[in-house]
Amino acid sequence: MTDQPYRPQVPAPQVEQLIQLRPLLDEEFVLSEIDRLRRERRAVILAHNYQRPEVQRTADFVGDSLGLARQAARTDAEVIVFAGVHFMAETAAVLNPDKVVLLPDFRAGCSLADTITAQGVRDWKAQHPDGLVAVYVNTTADVKAEADYCVTSGNAVQIIESLPKDVPILFAPDRFLAAHVARQTGRELHIWEGACHVHEAIRPDDVRAQQAEHPGAELLVHPECGCSTGVLAHHPDLQLYSTEGMVHRAQASNADTFIVVTELGMVTRLEKEVPGKTFVPVARTACCEYMKMITLENIYESLRDLSGQVSVSEDIRERALRPIERMLAVG
Ligand code: SF4
Repeated sequence: MTDQPYRPQVPAPQVEQLIQLRPLLDEEFVLSEIDRLRRERRAVILAHNYQRPEVQRTADFVGDSLGLARQAARTDAEVIVFAGVHFMAETAAVLNPDKVVLLPDFRAGCSLADTITAQGVRDWKAQHPDGLVAVYVNTTADVKAEADYCVTSGNAVQIIESLPKDVPILFAPDRFLAAHVARQTGRELHIWEGACHVHEAIRPDDVRAQQAEHPGAELLVHPECGCSTGVLAHHPDLQLYSTEGMVHRAQASNADTFIVVTELGMVTRLEKEVPGKTFVPVARTACCEYMKMITLENIYESLRDLSGQVSVSEDIRERALRPIERMLAVG
């Protein structure tokens, strides 16, 4: 079931410039300085699967939002450098109030997280006072503070299945993930009509074009993708995978070629974790500008100057912690 009054526009990324017009530092120097500073500051670098290849190679841990949140929860490092986007660094800050959490470029936002606000959730809850609110991890800390549960694409189905059957569920903000959860659980959900501009733009035609070029390749489709419903119409038994699920599936499958239907950076992670197999990105244009704002240079500068510190007010932190802990407990 979809609540009609809420139809937020997916905002275009507010990216003024991707190329920084200044002399580039020598890469060897930057890498050795990152290593020195990482040791001196007792820092850990956590990188999302969609990060640039060189950033993934430099990180101490590469994973999806859930994996990164788990690493952030268990690390004994004093400084966490988040090679990801703002909501991920905020989640690390909620879990680690006594640590320094750095985001090397504050422009690294998320178009999906921008489709919902805390006030929007409060207004929505007022319409469904008996409902439980489940929000995707791709939300700001103040939105999480309004939620009962936080979920990732890896454990959303499990969490929604565990909720009482007679209670309305408000699921936000990704409408494609919500449709996947509704299909898998058979539950009627109230759905916030948000989406990610990168995943929404992937069309069934992109998938078909790659299938024509790579006959016999297995599809690895993320549930955030705009193409998922269209692709399922042709492949009704197709499983959708979180990015972590894609790694496990590629390891277990007999196929040797895969079409990776999500953000481009996932191919780097798959090539590293599953050597000897071929991974084809569904579209070269499926590239998140926000994720690519983190570079070796700004990681180095952030570690050097302890710049880009992310903090969350104590009131929001305390309220956001409960749904985040519920997310970490599952899957
Ligand atoms: S790929 Fe989409 S959901 Fe992920 S960070 Fe970029 S804008 Fe947000």
